[in-house]
Amino acid sequence: MIFLDAAATTPVRREVLEAMWPYLSGEFGNPSSHHTLGEAAASALADARAAVATALGCRSGELTFTSGGTEADNLAVKGIALARQAADPALNRVVISAVEHPAVEESARYLERFHGFSVDVVRVDSTGLVAPAALAAVLRPETALVSIMYANNEVGTIQPVAELAGLARARGIPFHTDAVQAAGWLPLDVKALGVDALSISGHKLGAPKGCGVLFVRGRTRIEPLMHGGGQERGRRSGTENVAGAVGLATALALALAQAAQPQTADRVTVLRDGFIRDVLAAVPGAVLTGHPARRLPSVASFCFPGTSGESVLLELERQAVVCSSGSACAAGSDAPSPVLTAMGFEPEVAQTAVRFSFDSTVTGTDLAAAAEAVRTAVGSVRTLGRS
Ligand code: PLP
Repeated sequence: MIFLDAAATTPVRREVLEAMWPYLSGEFGNPSSHHTLGEAAASALADARAAVATALGCRSGELTFTSGGTEADNLAVKGIALARQAADPALNRVVISAVEHPAVEESARYLERFHGFSVDVVRVDSTGLVAPAALAAVLRPETALVSIMYANNEVGTIQPVAELAGLARARGIPFHTDAVQAAGWLPLDVKALGVDALSISGHKLGAPKGCGVLFVRGRTRIEPLMHGGGQERGRRSGTENVAGAVGLATALALALAQAAQPQTADRVTVLRDGFIRDVLAAVPGAVLTGHPARRLPSVASFCFPGTSGESVLLELERQAVVCSSGSACAAGSDAPSPVLTAMGFEPEVAQTAVRFSFDSTVTGTDLAAAAEAVRTAVGSVRTLGRS
């Protein structure tokens, strides 16, 4: 099988599993317990937090471990907006981009439905980019929070986060970024990015599903979503997933060490560009989606007019190439991707989307075979009229 769906999830890395194993077995303590086992768990959690803090260039106390990217996004968007509204009821607007993951979009819609917020959606251009001027145009004195993703999960477009965060910060508005897809490929130094909050998910990086982390800068107030025993400095109650936190910290450190070597990202970028060229040459009418240059090294996404994305996926899987039609959350649905329609694609074209995403171990041989499989798959779907 050629697995080209790393943006959906990745296998757990051996080093990660080995780092986690003690906390799933002998060192199984509850970090809140005041005995040796509990203290060992608390110390592992503190070490994991310190390792993530080093990776992000922040303080340990600015990190909250969560159950994944979705929870980190929910906590950031709802938690910061609600805390600001509680301090000043006039702060009742949130800004998101038109291409956010549902974890951010639906959190904003929840604030609208139940807490009297208005949601301002910043448009993107045909490559999925948010123009700083477009963000500036929607910022108001009542804006409680801006949330714009670092890199898009369907098309890989990378936003100018530092510039966008600077615009919000100049007006005293906290800026959150969903860095779930960026982590492992792009710099994550929160000071250089100038963000006030940033979300990461473990399973996109070689840690298990069900672990994530949220950075929230210094004194930014945040209302917890989980109430209980006051773990995670009161920001997220519930017995901590010690092994998950250790796994996430290990995976993040490994991924950043790899990404720091220019040859890794450069090698994958060259392979990605070769794959894009091969697919565009082999499939008449194929359209690359997303920004041609400002895109994750790991994502190549296309529309194949005259097909349906789901039919192409089935044909590809028959040829042992596994990928997806957009985001993993929308898998199995023939509905056009809201990300692509926001970028100006007609619904009939958006519904033909296929995303190929890879990790740093991808090879040229696999991608050459995958490009040939795409040619055959699209050809057969078009011939059979299965659109
Ligand atoms: N944000 C983005 C950009 C994602 O791609 C994903 C997962 O696909 C998430 C958030 C949700 O992360 P998790 O699966 O850990 O809940």
